Amino acid sequence: MPIKVFVQTYGCQMNLADSEEMFLHLSARGAVRTDNLDQADAVLINTCTVRDHAEHRALSFLGRLCKWKRQNPQRIIIFAGCAAQRMGKALQKRYPYLNIVSGAKEIEHFDQTLDKSGLFSPAATPAAPQAALSAYVTIMRGCNFNCSYCIVPSVRGPVKCLPAQTILQDATRKAQAGAKEITLLGQTVNAYQDGSTTFADLLNRVSEIPGVQRVRFTSPHPIYFTPQFLAAVKDNPKIARHVHLPVQSGSSKVLQEMKRGYTREIFLEKVRALQVAGFEISTDIIVGFPTETEEDFAQTLSLVDQARFTAAYCFKYSPRQGTPAAQLPLHSENVLENRLSILLNKVRGLAEQAYQRQVGTVQSVLMETPRKGRSSSNYWVETGLDFPVGSVVSCKIERAEGTLLFARNEHD
Ligand code: SF4
Repeated sequence: MPIKVFVQTYGCQMNLADSEEMFLHLSARGAVRTDNLDQADAVLINTCTVRDHAEHRALSFLGRLCKWKRQNPQRIIIFAGCAAQRMGKALQKRYPYLNIVSGAKEIEHFDQTLDKSGLFSPAATPAAPQAALSAYVTIMRGCNFNCSYCIVPSVRGPVKCLPAQTILQDATRKAQAGAKEITLLGQTVNAYQDGSTTFADLLNRVSEIPGVQRVRFTSPHPIYFTPQFLAAVKDNPKIARHVHLPVQSGSSKVLQEMKRGYTREIFLEKVRALQVAGFEISTDIIVGFPTETEEDFAQTLSLVDQARFTAAYCFKYSPRQGTPAAQLPLHSENVLENRLSILLNKVRGLAEQAYQRQVGTVQSVLMETPRKGRSSSNYWVETGLDFPVGSVVSCKIERAEGTLLFARNEHD
């Protein structure tokens, strides 16, 4: 009987990709996936430590597994990822029923971790990989920045780019298993460089893999968007016209205190250049950084007006132990709540306005269900007619309702 594994992932897309990679090593040892915890023989928890809240959720799930394990002591619990890296050996003391702890820096050697544990047999028949329309491919790990609020560099270490050949093989394997859309992942994904292979080269080469219809990437850093990058990708329609570009603050003073490496003016310049090249931009914003004044916050609101984001994910600042910003005095919860609600009010209409701007345009839509798909610039489109899932359809957008576009197929 194969070992049934329940996978629980917290955090970002990189973590989802890491969970897939870890699961591949488990399936090479005969494991299969289950969505039913009660029927599982093993649980893989892949954790995030970027925010306190995500770490607490993972630990609370781990706490609940105590009873699950008591029902059958043969069951296996694997705790992996960023929180595992941060908390290290202390975890096994606090949760003695944990079988394997594997930090974010050890993911590349997860196969060896499994073999060392003696709990999985490498000789078992690997399960066939499952086809997914959209697949993640990690191209780099770690980060060379030291944003003053961020714990990632200390848990994931400095940047390590994977060899281009390895990435192309991974993307090819996923395309052969049925993926039509490949998303390249890295903490500062557009800083990728392997010898003479740049990030733009990599995007173009992945787009040439048979079966790949669209290539996306996340998360880029503003400073790596250069005119050379835009020139290298501008004629490739398979590279999605959407960039999720975290800004974090609209005040140059706060950006400097955050050590983000750019000013408000530089960020807006990059946004304009990307928009001229046809990219739509979404972003992340932190409100209530310890040194943020009312004037700084007003700067964030005005940047949101100027940048014409399609969406903005807004977070209250929360300190992470061990980061330089954690030493600074915090704003009161009232200030945080107040600023967040003002910002959310402003961004609430962004997506709807962005959807309205699409009316009258022609979009190429990758079908994710027979009638619904996503455009290159990441809008949901209802096609009105049935098309094969995974096909790319050219559609004229007739109207927008909330966050959905309605199209008339070009051949109607
Ligand atoms: S760029 Fe800054 S926020 Fe992003 S992972 Fe690196 S240190 Fe953290």
